[in-house]
Amino acid sequence: MAHSDILAFVKQRNPHEPEFLQAAEEVIDSVLPVIDKNPEYRKLKLLERMLEPERLISFRVTWLDDKGEVQVNKGFRVQMNSAIGPYKGGLRFHPSVNQSVLKFLAFEQIFKNALTGIPMGGGKGGSDFDPKGKSENEIMKFCQAFMGELARHIGHRLDVPAGDIGVGGREIGYLFGAYKKIRNEFTGVLTGKGIGWGGSLIRPEATGYGLIYFAENMLQNKGDSLKGKTCLVSGSGNVSQYAIEKIIQMGGKVVTASDSNGFIHDEAGFTTEKLAFLMDLKNNRRGRIKDYADKYKCTYKEVDPKADHNPLWSIKADCAFPCATQNEVNGKDASNLVKNGVKVLGEGANMPTTIEGINILIDNGVMYSPGKASNAGGVATSGLEMTQNFMGSNWTREEVDGKLRGIMKSIHDTALAAAKEYGKPGNYMVGANIAGFVKVANAMKAQGVI
Ligand code: NDP
Repeated sequence: MAHSDILAFVKQRNPHEPEFLQAAEEVIDSVLPVIDKNPEYRKLKLLERMLEPERLISFRVTWLDDKGEVQVNKGFRVQMNSAIGPYKGGLRFHPSVNQSVLKFLAFEQIFKNALTGIPMGGGKGGSDFDPKGKSENEIMKFCQAFMGELARHIGHRLDVPAGDIGVGGREIGYLFGAYKKIRNEFTGVLTGKGIGWGGSLIRPEATGYGLIYFAENMLQNKGDSLKGKTCLVSGSGNVSQYAIEKIIQMGGKVVTASDSNGFIHDEAGFTTEKLAFLMDLKNNRRGRIKDYADKYKCTYKEVDPKADHNPLWSIKADCAFPCATQNEVNGKDASNLVKNGVKVLGEGANMPTTIEGINILIDNGVMYSPGKASNAGGVATSGLEMTQNFMGSNWTREEVDGKLRGIMKSIHDTALAAAKEYGKPGNYMVGANIAGFVKVANAMKAQGVI
């Protein structure tokens, strides 16, 4: 099938799934030259098979809130592809969660996991449950109810979920406790566990740190570095916090952070002390980013999600790191970044840039890294947590950080080499898609028509 045929085939089979179709289109575009070069990939319909989940579990989650009222949520697990290892991918708790969002995330995860070099297949799951404004007790009750069903479908050699938006260390703890009670076994069935009960050092930091290691690799490839660079970061959750920390450590200056209400612009830049305030605000007090502006007397702007652009991306800077959610950088935002001379856009979130935005960045020579390459440090370190669980021992902070740095460098080099081989030098998106695709396609080919 030609590009348009495969895309039409996917569109016809998945109507009303815009996020999934967006992720699919980007990959189809990138890997068609590989399929043209390898007729067997076409004959075996490897891409068509990757675009269909191996299994999609949809379930009801019923729980009692603090007032004793019955609450009903949707629960999902998308087991997308297990050609190179057990399904692996996070759980997202957010009101925007639906089948389309989780299928796009699970599809991206296939390629991301392949790039890490660790044997992990692709999966993703979650719920439309909104943790905002819920009590500790309600969060725990929900996690227990969610795991009540999920426990039947996962296992440490079958499917190993982790965190994502709305699922951090606290939720992983409740989910793990519930799994252990239901299945009566202590295994590494989830990653992102606490230190002392199977977790790995550096896992909380890994996605943000890995993103910045990747950006440093891109800059170094051009004889440059992050030192002295002004950086825009969006979001204020797990990925953003540790991206900010690593940028500070590398001598860069971070001037923004955001949440779903608005963003702060701190021209003086984040310091370690200001970051500690942000972490306490978001992780312990569960407050809003506006409190940061009140405390440090900097600019705060509310953002209208329906506006045609986000003013955060109109601030002058050298580097941009979207770390909140999908489609937060559109064509207009990309044009504003280009106008202001941005050199690097590294995706910390999954698919934060629209296809139009990506094209504008690449056409204007911005070094653009897709999330499936530059945020892979999180799942890679989850893979390291799984290895430590199987071995029954723990590596030091330095050992895990060293491995993370090595993995990010290897993903960078692999994507760059694949892009060059297929006539798109410097295009990290095409390179990452091709390198991930080839690895999984070859495994599927070897395993027969299943
Ligand atoms: P968190 O829940 O810790 O933080 C999410 C942040 O994004 C919060 O600041 C949140 O604001 C903001 N946000 C969420 N949804 C929206 C929205 N619709 N509009 C505007 N802001 C929004 O999540 P993570 O940091 O873990 O994840 C962030 C991104 O990184 C996601 O795309 C995730 O898939 C990706 N990712 C995460 C990995 C990980 O290891 N955690 C690994 C790889 C990718 P608010 O506080 O108002 O909700």
